[in-house]
Amino acid sequence: MTTGTLTNWAGNITYSARELHSPASVDAVRELVADSARVRVLGSGHSFNTIAEPGPDGILLSLAALPPATDVDTTARTVRVAGGVRYAELAARVHRHGLALHNMASLPHISVAGSVATGTHGSGTANGSLASAVREVELVTADGSLLTIGRGDERFDGAVTALGALGVVTALTLDLEPGYEVSQHVFTELPLEGLDFETVAASAYSVSLFTDWRRPGFRQVWLKRRTDQPLPVSPWAAPATEAMHPVPGMPAVNCTEQFGVPGPWHERLPHFRAEFTPSSGAELQSEYLLPRAHALAALHAVDAIRGAIAPVLRICEVRTVAADRQWLSPAYGQDTVALHFTWIEDTEAVLPVVRRLEEALDPFAPRPHWGKVFTTRPEAVRERYPRLGDFAALAGTLDPAGTFANAFVRDALGAPRG
Ligand SMILES: Cc1cc2nc3c(=O)[nH]c(=O)nc-3n(C[C@H](O)[C@H](O)[C@H](O)COP(=O)(O)OP(=O)(O)OC[C@H]3O[C@@H](n4cnc5c(N)ncnc54)[C@H](O)[C@@H]3O)c2cc1C
Repeated sequence: MTTGTLTNWAGNITYSARELHSPASVDAVRELVADSARVRVLGSGHSFNTIAEPGPDGILLSLAALPPATDVDTTARTVRVAGGVRYAELAARVHRHGLALHNMASLPHISVAGSVATGTHGSGTANGSLASAVREVELVTADGSLLTIGRGDERFDGAVTALGALGVVTALTLDLEPGYEVSQHVFTELPLEGLDFETVAASAYSVSLFTDWRRPGFRQVWLKRRTDQPLPVSPWAAPATEAMHPVPGMPAVNCTEQFGVPGPWHERLPHFRAEFTPSSGAELQSEYLLPRAHALAALHAVDAIRGAIAPVLRICEVRTVAADRQWLSPAYGQDTVALHFTWIEDTEAVLPVVRRLEEALDPFAPRPHWGKVFTTRPEAVRERYPRLGDFAALAGTLDPAGTFANAFVRDALGAPRG
C-alpha cells in the first residue's frame, strides 16, 4: 500500500516512503527485507523527527500485524515480546502473571521496540532506561536472515538502542521482577533557589519535576513510591490539594491515580492512563540528557533564558536516568538528568527557541533524545558518544549496503548522506 499522507503521531513529519507494508509473519518480514534496498520500521510513530523516514525510494514496515506475542516465563522471570507490541499491552500481560517491569515512560501507548531503539526512559536515580531491561534482541538483517543477539555477546551493547539501523527487531526478551505496588504523591511549588537536586531526585523510586518556566522553580513534583519502600518526605514543597495534570489548566482525568492511593506498578509509573489513548498530539517535544552532577547548573542555565522559553512551552519535565551500557544510549556511561520540553505545535516558532536552549546547555555536552526535535550539529552529537565508532563498525558488518541507514542515521554515524 502507498503511504499517502502518513504522518507521525504529532503530525509534524509526513513520511515520504514509497510504500507502507504490514507483514503478518516474520517470514514475510524476511522476504520483504531481502527484496528491498531501503527499509525503515515504523513503530507507533511517537518520535518527533525523521528518525523513521526511509526516504522516497524506501519502504516503511509496520509490525502491527505480526502476532502480538507476549510470552511470559515465570520461572526465568522474563518476557519475550513481539516487535509491534506496545507497553500498555505488555504491562497488562506481565501484571497478570504477578510480575513487573522496572520502569515505564510517561505514556504507555508507545511500542516497546521503538522505545528501546531511541533510549526512551522513565525516571529514578537507580532506574536505567527502558532498554536496560532488554536481555535479547531478535532481528531480521539486511539479507533477510534472522539473528539473535543476547547479553554476553560482544555486539549486545550496540544492539538495543540502535536507532533501527541494524535491522527489523521482530522480538525482544526483557527482564522482569516480582510485581510491586506504587503510590503517587504530588507536591506543588518547589523553589529552584536552594534546591538540593540530588536529595529531591532520590526521594522516591521515580521523581518528576514540572515547570512552565513562567517564573523560577517548579510548579509540581511527582513522587512515585514503591510501597515496599518508605513514604516520601517532602519538606521542600506543599502536598497538592487536588488531582493534577502536568500541564497547567488541563483536566487531570486522564492522569494516573494520585493522593498516595497504592496501585499496580503499571497504573502508576506512567503519568497517563492506558485507557486514555491520544491518537494524535498537538505538541512537539525536545529532551536533553546530561551528567546528573550538572543538574543544578543546567537548570539555572535554562532559568536564565526562561523569558524566551515560556511563550512556546507547554511544560518542562526534569527526570533522572541511571547510567547504562548501550553505546548509543543518551545515558551511556553516566548517571543522567533529562531535561524535557513539551512545546506548542508551531515548528517555526519553536525551532529558534530550541537553538537558544541548545546554546545555553552546550557547556554540559547534552545528548539530545534520539526521538525528539533537536538542531545540535551532528558532529557535536557524535563527540558525545565515546562508543560511536564501535556502533558504526557493527552497523557496517550487519548492514554493509546501508539498507537500514536513512539520512538521520547517516548523520548520527558521520557517514555521507548518500
Ligand atoms: C506523548 C509522548 C510521550 C513520550 N514520553 C516519553 C518518555 O516518557 N520518555 C522518553 O524517553 N521518551 C518519551 N517519548 C518519546 C518516545 O518514547 C520515542 O520517540 C520512541 O522512540 C517512540 O517509540 P515508537 O514506537 O513510537 O517509535 P517510532 O517513532 O515509530 O520509531 C522510532 C525509531 O525506532 C525504530 N523502530 C521502531 N520499531 C522498530 C522495530 N521493530 N525494529 C527496528 N526499529 C524499530 C524506528 O525505525 C525509528 O528509528 C514520548 C513521546 C510521546 C509522543
